[in-house]
Amino acid sequence: MTLCCLLIGAPGSGKGTQSSIISKKKNLVKLSTGDLIRQEVNKGTADGERMSLLISDGNLVDDATMILLLKRFFEENHIETGIVSDGFPRNLNQAKDLSKFFSSSPESVELKVLYLKIPVQDLIGRILSRRICVRCNEIFSMKDSRESLLKVCSTCGGELILRNDDNEKVVRKRHKIFEETILPMLEFYGDKVTTIDATLTKDKVTELILKELEDQ
Ligand SMILES: [Zn+2]
Repeated sequence: MTLCCLLIGAPGSGKGTQSSIISKKKNLVKLSTGDLIRQEVNKGTADGERMSLLISDGNLVDDATMILLLKRFFEENHIETGIVSDGFPRNLNQAKDLSKFFSSSPESVELKVLYLKIPVQDLIGRILSRRICVRCNEIFSMKDSRESLLKVCSTCGGELILRNDDNEKVVRKRHKIFEETILPMLEFYGDKVTTIDATLTKDKVTELILKELEDQ
C-alpha cells in the first residue's frame, strides 16, 4: 500500500511549504510539478522555453505536458512509503489522468486529498513575502520571524529570490483559474477530501495534516 497525499490549494495557500515538511516527516517523495517545470526550464530545451513563457504570463502548462512530466517523475524516483504532491492535480483532467495512472499500476494506492483553503485577500500579502531557494527550491516566508533573518537557504546555502511569477497581477490571474478548477475537482474526489483552514499558522496546519495522515 502506497500513500498518495495530494495537497491542493490556491497558489500561496502554503502547499509548497507544507509538502516539504510532510515529505520529510513522513518519508514521502515530494511531487512538485512546479519543480518539474523549473527543472525543464533550466535544461533550456524547447519544451522548457515554452513552459517558461507560459508561467511568467500567469498561465498554466497544458495537461498533456503535465502528464508527461508525471510519468517521468514516477520513472525517475524510487518510491517506498508514498508521495505527497505540491498542488497536483490542478484540474479535473489531471485528477482523472492521475486516477487512470494509478489504476494501471500494480500497487494499491491509499489516496488522501487535503484541501488548504484560504481567501484571496489573505493570499496576496503572503505570496509577495515568499522567497525561493534558487538551488533546492525550498520556500521561505519573510513574514516568519525566524525565516525573515535568513540571508541564504538554511538547507543548502543557496541564494533566496522572489520568483518572477510572484507578483500581484499574476497572483490574481492564477487565483481566478484556480477558483474555476477547484470545485469540479473537489466533487470528483468526494469524501476523500479533507478541508484544512490554511489561514492558521504554519505549525498548526502541519499538525492538522499529520493528524489526517495518522488516521490511516
Ligand atoms: Zn536551498
